[in-house]
Amino acid sequence: MLRALGHEIGHGVYRHELERSLEIPQLKKLLDNAFAKAKKALQDQGSTKYDGKFGFEEWYADQYSVYALDPDQKATNFVQSYLTYYTKIKKILRYS
Ligand SMILES: [Zn+2]
Repeated sequence: MLRALGHEIGHGVYRHELERSLEIPQLKKLLDNAFAKAKKALQDQGSTKYDGKFGFEEWYADQYSVYALDPDQKATNFVQSYLTYYTKIKKILRYS
């Protein structure tokens, strides 16, 4: 339930903020690479969840959900750091 809610919030973040980030070529490349890896891992398990037109957005929303709900989750690479950063910004905007 909570995770589903985080996922939906992730969609909103995607639409409002990620689209701007995707204009930065280096960032887009890193996110694309991370998505391709996640998609391949799911395909290897027989899942088509991230296939199709909205696959990237679905992946982003899932990633957002993980980091939004568990702020202590350790970021181990740039993409995770980026998502953690966005989660923190969201929190600050909400509670200030
Ligand atoms: Zn979704």
